[in-house]
This record gives sequence, C-alpha cells and structure tokens, in this order.
Amino acid sequence: MTDLSRRKMLVGAAASAAALGVAATAKAATFGNPDNPAEGAINAKSPTSLDDPGPKNPGLASQFPDTGNPPPTDVNGMAEFWASFNNAPKRIQDGGWARQVTQEDFAISTEISGVNMRLAKNGIRELHWHQQAEWAVMTDGKCRITIIDELGRPQVADVKAGDLWYFPPGLPHSLQGIGPTGAEFVIAFDNGMASEFNTLLLTDWIAHTPPEILSANFGVPADAFKNIPLNNLWIFQGKDPGPLAADQAAVKSPLGPPTFPFVFSLSDLPPVRKTAGGMVQIADSRNFRASSTVAAALVTVKPGGMRELHWHPNADEWQYYISGEGRMTVFDTGPRAITNDFRAGDIGYVKKSLGHYVQNTGNTDLVFMEIFRSDHYAEVSLSDWLTHTPPQMVMEHLNITPDVLAKFPRNRPDIVPV
Ligand code: MN
Ligand code: MN
Repeated sequence: MTDLSRRKMLVGAAASAAALGVAATAKAATFGNPDNPAEGAINAKSPTSLDDPGPKNPGLASQFPDTGNPPPTDVNGMAEFWASFNNAPKRIQDGGWARQVTQEDFAISTEISGVNMRLAKNGIRELHWHQQAEWAVMTDGKCRITIIDELGRPQVADVKAGDLWYFPPGLPHSLQGIGPTGAEFVIAFDNGMASEFNTLLLTDWIAHTPPEILSANFGVPADAFKNIPLNNLWIFQGKDPGPLAADQAAVKSPLGPPTFPFVFSLSDLPPVRKTAGGMVQIADSRNFRASSTVAAALVTVKPGGMRELHWHPNADEWQYYISGEGRMTVFDTGPRAITNDFRAGDIGYVKKSLGHYVQNTGNTDLVFMEIFRSDHYAEVSLSDWLTHTPPQMVMEHLNITPDVLAKFPRNRPDIVPV
C-alpha cells in the first residue's frame, strides 16, 4: 500500500466521482493528506477494521464524533488539546464553588490555567493575592470586585455578564456575588501552573502571625484578634455589601484611583470584524489598558459559519466555549492534524503558531473566547496571506487556476462566509 497515498486514493475517488456527477460532493470533501501513514477509515479495507466492540460509554462517545471517526485528513501524534470544566471536580463551600483546569490536569496548557467560579448572592471569595495575573470574564449575574494597586490606589467596581477584570500579579483583591443571583465567571491565570486552591489568603496570614506582632503592626491590643478564624475562609457567605457608591466613598485614597481601571466591558464593544458568518470583539492592552499580560477575543460564529483558517504568532491560545457546538482541527509539523469537538464549558488549547479553524457544527450561535498570554491580540489569516502573495507562486503551489484564486477572501474576514 506504500504507493497508494491517501491523496492518490482520494483524488482518484473524487475524479471518478466527478465523472458520475452528484456523488462528487461527498468524495471531494475527503481530499486529504498525501503522507504516510495511511490513516483514516477511508484506508481501512479489511471488513473488520472499523469494528469497535470493546467497552464504551455511549453518552460520552456521542459527544465526540470527530475522535471516534476522525476525518481522513487527520494524522495522530499530537498532545491532547481538549479539556473541560464540565467534569472538573467542584470545591463547594457555603457561599459558592469553584473548579479548575490547570497544567497539572491538562499538560499542554503551559501559559494559561483556568478556573470556573460561582459566588452565591453575597458570597465572597476572600481577600487574597497571588504571583500570577488574573484575567476574568463574567458569564452570569453580577459581581463586586475590590483591588488596590502598588501605589495604594484602590478600586471598587461592579461587573455584569460580558464584563472583564484584570488583576496584575501580586495585587490584593476580593470578589463578591451581588444582586439576586450572585455571579459566575471564568478566570484565566497567566501561568499554567497557577491554582485557585493555592493563593495567599488574608485569614491564613493573620492566623499565622504571632499576636504581639499583630498588636504592634495594627496598634491595637493583641486580644482584639481573639476571634479571628483559625482556618481560612476561601469562599464564604457574606452579607449584602450595600450600594457601590458607599463602598467607593469608604475606600477613597488621597492618591486617587488607579491610572487605568481594572474592569472593562467587552460585550458592549463594537466588533472589529462582522461578516455574514459572525463577529469578533477584542480586548487587549490597546483598549483595556490595565490588561498588560492577557489579550482576549470574543468570537460569535453563526450556524453554518466558521472561524477561518489562521494562527497566532505571539502566544498559545486558550479557548473557553460559552455556548453552541463546534469542532476544531489543529495542524502541526509532521504533518500532524487532530480534530476534536467542543461544547459549552469546554476548553481548547492551541500552541503558538499552529494552524486551526473552528467550525460551528450546531444549530445555534457558537460563542467562545480566545485568550492569550500577551499584551496584544495577533493573528495571521491563511486567506489573507495567499491573496497577498504573488498569484503565480500561489497557483504553482496549489495547482489552482486564476479564477479559483480570485475568489479567495482578500479582507481577513475572521469569520466565513464573508
Ligand atoms: Mn485571585
Ligand atoms: Mn485562533
């Protein structure tokens, strides 16, 4: 079978199908990889090659049509780039819960660690800090954030679904669910090893400082601290914090507020691209000035649409799927190419500069976020590159005709169809 590459088989199949007319469409869709090994069901000629009698979980298998039956263009040998909050263990306390997917759980995810947190009405994520920057997107309800910068300039703000926050490394902060339903959000730390279960907590420090030191530090008798919690709170049920304006007045510093706000409204932004297939909104340090190490794009792909073939030259991409259904193929050297399926609550990861697309495979809008450890969003579009390269060179590479090349989108659509 060594002389029968997948391409020969596929092109041959397509050519004979073309002669037969209507069957051509299905066969043409399998144009594929010219390289060995001859992978894919299309190469499985023996009658029992495709049998799969072993133990299986039908519910789980049905969620992953593209791993159970990969497109013939896939070639294995790539690290897993699918993960999910859906099956991440929840740490539940009075006041809310959190679950996370870190590099320890998801080896490929070296640049970003993800946390999904829910805070009950008035539930508090206790005052804390950590070595990593914290970026977050609100997905439900309302949350009140507090933070102070290294110059002593505080900010208290309320955020709603579609808003972001960015807390620089080491700056102390808190979160509280407010309004009738509290808050849910997803945090991205700019380090794959960061853990929400391993942060520097106010209550831990106070409980592990000698009482006479607390007395000297705060200028009050040591027994003023006799009721401190001996175990940390992490998440706990708080009381209604009252109006935002009152909190803002209470924290006021003569130094004023931070130079750039630590919160930003992403979903209210005008899209940077809008096509028949969907739209892209981008928040990075060029508009969300405080967000110096995380850039984000909110992508909406309509049914039948696709986030076009592209890559990112500056950073790995950490994806968080918010709604809908999609599939992504990641292309690497080798060549290797793997396709996987994504639903709400899932996470995808694409290493820097590896090619990929994301196709809406459902009947509703596919909405997901692309998160990067970078101060700016950057991408290279395949169609943009090929339409701004001397045409003869492109045609000689792909054996295509001028009229085909002339139809390629020239304006970086981001989402197709244009
Ligand atoms: Mn934090
Ligand atoms: Mn991308």
